[in-house]
Amino acid sequence: MDAVDRDASEASLLASSDRKAPSSADLLVRGATLVVTCDDAGTELAGGWVAVRNGVIAAVGTGPEPEAAEVLDATGCLVTPGLVNTHHHLYQNLTRGLFPDGTLFEWLTGLYPVWEGLDEEGAYLSAWAGLAELALSGCTTSTDHLYVAPTGAGDLWAAEIRAAGEVGMRFHPTRGSMTRSVKDGGLPPDSVVQDDDEVLADSQRLVEAFHDPSPHAMVRVALAPCSPFSVSPELMRATAELAERLDVRLHTHLAEDADEDTYCLETFGRRPVDQFAEVGWLTDRAWVAHCIFPDDAEIARLGAAGVGVAHCPSSNSVLGNTRICPVTDLRAAGVPVGLGCDGSSSNDMASLWVESRHAMLLGRVRGGPTAVAARDVLTMATRDGARCLGRDGEIGQLTPGAAADLAVWPQTGPAFAGALADPVAAWLRCGPTLARHTVVAGRPVVRDGVVTAPGLDDVLVRHRGVATRVQGLAR
Ligand SMILES: [Zn+2]
Repeated sequence: MDAVDRDASEASLLASSDRKAPSSADLLVRGATLVVTCDDAGTELAGGWVAVRNGVIAAVGTGPEPEAAEVLDATGCLVTPGLVNTHHHLYQNLTRGLFPDGTLFEWLTGLYPVWEGLDEEGAYLSAWAGLAELALSGCTTSTDHLYVAPTGAGDLWAAEIRAAGEVGMRFHPTRGSMTRSVKDGGLPPDSVVQDDDEVLADSQRLVEAFHDPSPHAMVRVALAPCSPFSVSPELMRATAELAERLDVRLHTHLAEDADEDTYCLETFGRRPVDQFAEVGWLTDRAWVAHCIFPDDAEIARLGAAGVGVAHCPSSNSVLGNTRICPVTDLRAAGVPVGLGCDGSSSNDMASLWVESRHAMLLGRVRGGPTAVAARDVLTMATRDGARCLGRDGEIGQLTPGAAADLAVWPQTGPAFAGALADPVAAWLRCGPTLARHTVVAGRPVVRDGVVTAPGLDDVLVRHRGVATRVQGLAR
C-alpha cells in the first residue's frame, strides 16, 4: 500500500491506497518486520513504515518513505498500536507487595488503614513511576481508578494528572470514591471515606478543570465510585446522572469476587449486575473492571447495553479467583473487552504485555487451544480498550487521522531465534516483554528502552521515601 499526502486533520478522510508518500513528516518509524494497524480490515504491512505529523498518523505504508525530522529504527521489530490500560490503581505501587496472600476482602481490609497515608506527593510520585513502568511495556494510554481520599490529603487527582503530563502519557484519571464505611455496613474504615455531596461536588470540579472532550485529547476524566460494597446506592445513581449531564464516562468494579455476590444478595437483595442496573449504570457510558461472575443472562444484558469490561487476568490470578473471566462469551455478546493491570498487591507488575500474554493463557485454560489467538488479544489490548474508553477510531489503531500512539517491539536475540512464522503470535509466545520505543501523540516517551522524560531516578528516590512512610517502616 502507498501513503497519503495531506494535513493530519484531513488524513482520516483519505483511503489508504493509491496515494503518494507524504513529502515530510515529524516522525517516521521505519524498517519494521511487520506493522499491524488493527484497522477494520485487519491490515498488516510487511516491511512497513508509519509517518506522523502534528501528533496524528499521517500515513502508513510500504515502499518509498517520506522525509522526517525524527526517525525511529524498527528494524527487526513488530509495530503495533500503543496498548491501552483500562483499569489501574497507580497509588497502590506505594504498597507494592504488601499482603501478598489473601482473598480480595482480606487484602482490602488490611490495606485500607495503610492507604490513609496517601497525600499529593504520594499521588504524584506513584503516578509518575507507574506510568513510566507502563510506557516501558508499550502502553500509551492509561486509566487510573483513584478511590481513596484521606482527610486533608489535598488534590490527589491534580497531582497525578501533572505526573502524566510530565511522562507524556495519554491519561484517563477517574474520580473514585468510597462513602460506605464499616459503620454503614461497608468494608472501608471511616478515615478513607467521604460523604456523597463532597464526592459529587469534587467530581464536577475535576471534570470542569481537566476533562478535554476534543479529538486526540491527552486527558479525559471519568467518574468512578469504587464498588457495590464501598459506596451507597444513592451515590451510584447520582453519579450516573452527573456523568450524563457532564457527558463523561463511568467506571467501577463489578462482579469481581464470589464474596461480592453474597454481599449484594444480603445487602440489596439482588445480584451485582441487577444492582448495577438498578442504580442506572447499565449503559454504554460505563466500563467495569473484572466482571468474572456474571451468569449467561447477565452477560447478554451487559452486551446488549454496550457496557465495556476491563479484563485483569493477573489480578484475578493473584487473588486466587475460583473462576476465570468469561472473555470469549462477553465478546460474543458484544461487550468490548479491554485489558487492565489493576493495582499493586493484587498485581505487582504494571505491564500491559504481561496482561496480554496472561489473557491468552487464561483464555485457553478456560476455552481450549483455539479459544483466544494472539490477534484477539492484540485487538483487546488496543481497539477494544479504546472502545471501553469511548475512543474507538481515535486511539488503538494505526490509521490516518488516529492519534500517533504506537509501540515498537524488538523481535531479535535468543528468545526469537527461529520465530519466523508469525510476528504477532511470536509477540505473545516468545516475548519481548518490553518495548524498544513507545510513542504517544508522535513523541517518543520511551526511546531505545529508556524513558525520555527527565527525572526518573529522582522520582524513584522520592517514591521510596514516601513508600517507607506510608508502609510505616523505619528509613
Ligand atoms: Zn481494581
